[in-house]
Amino acid sequence: MGLHLRDGALHVEGVALEDLATRFGTPTYVYSKAALEQAYGAFASAFSAAPGSLACYAVKANSTLAVLGVLARAGAGFDIVSGGELQRVLKAGGNPARVVFSGVSKSREDISAALDAGILCFNIESAAELERIAAIAASRAQVAPVSLRVNPDVDAMSHPYISTGLRENKFGVDMQTARALYQRAASLPSLRVCGIDCHIGSQITSLSPFVDALDRVLALVDALSAEGIVLEHIDVGGGLGVSYNGESPPSVQDYASAILAGVGARPLRILTEPGRAIVAAAGLLLTRVEYLKRNGERSFAIVDAGMNDLLRPALYGAWMGIEAVRPRAGTPQDWDIVGPVCESADFLGKQRALALEAGDLLAVRDAGAYAFSMSSNYNSRCRAAEVMVDGDTAFLVRERERFEDLVRGERLLPAGA
Ligand SMILES: *Cc1c(COP(=O)(O)O)cnc(C)c1O
Repeated sequence: MGLHLRDGALHVEGVALEDLATRFGTPTYVYSKAALEQAYGAFASAFSAAPGSLACYAVKANSTLAVLGVLARAGAGFDIVSGGELQRVLKAGGNPARVVFSGVSKSREDISAALDAGILCFNIESAAELERIAAIAASRAQVAPVSLRVNPDVDAMSHPYISTGLRENKFGVDMQTARALYQRAASLPSLRVCGIDCHIGSQITSLSPFVDALDRVLALVDALSAEGIVLEHIDVGGGLGVSYNGESPPSVQDYASAILAGVGARPLRILTEPGRAIVAAAGLLLTRVEYLKRNGERSFAIVDAGMNDLLRPALYGAWMGIEAVRPRAGTPQDWDIVGPVCESADFLGKQRALALEAGDLLAVRDAGAYAFSMSSNYNSRCRAAEVMVDGDTAFLVRERERFEDLVRGERLLPAGA
């Protein structure tokens, strides 16, 4: 993300993190506009050999308007999972004709809003949802573009919480059911069958699960074609991993080559739904050490960012790189970097060798994905500010929350109740 040391301190592009902490306080998320553009560009160009291919950025990874706006300007499509995400994409200037709508529980309101907007495709996840979308489209005298999210039953070899392509997951429909559902969809005049979709999980660090899934999905595409159901696109989902701690996921180029080779000469438009691979490395969380303390054998650095700001370590045991913004010369010592929240799971990293003093600034790396978008107000903590760096300029793209934001919409009972 253009994160580098200059004059002994970390900078993002041309801006010193120390200056950002002074201007905007901490904890603050910091994004690099150039890194976002570069990551999206890499996806778009890796698939450019396939006519009409489109990378639909998975909004849930980071749904901040400014992030969506940068990607919209770069020509991105978007993968949404709620009506709220659709509204964010539209507000950020995204093109609804490049939006695919995933998720197991699309509400009636969400379906109507997506039909109003004119999205590219609904990724249907169950028979009941198919009937609901067909009925809503029929009642509005519209035709809904649909694909089925199939579950190819491959193990993404990722964390169980982020594996989605096994038969026991709640996502998608199994291959047998899919065949019958395609026939049903094709028989309904309010649906236009346009594609097929799968998404097998997240933080996948080898090509084989993608290739296995693709082969199974393509077998279904071919079988459907033989039955007269000819699809326009195949959406291979997201899931390409990033390197948090020395993992070596496939490059975007290698990933694209494998997909393109698998699809071969079939006249299918290729869609992808990358989330993490676009935004993870483009962001960091800037936090300040409040206190140092020792309990028994452990040394703790208590920082002003907690699990409410960055849930990944607590939720998945995820390892995130943590660096001193101005590295000290002293001998490093092992610290547990913990937050202010009243939960033992509230840590950002354990046993990290750093030379630290109270007041120091730390940068949690690769925090552009599943970080701010998963943040909460637990412990009545105001959510962090967000800043986008563009060259030598930093833009505040989300104000730090204040107490009024925490209680907005709440009411005390009337006196005497
Ligand atoms: C979360 C999700 C993605 C993005 O996954 P990444 O691992 O961030 O690339 C794509 N498609 C669907 C349906 C998802 O739920």
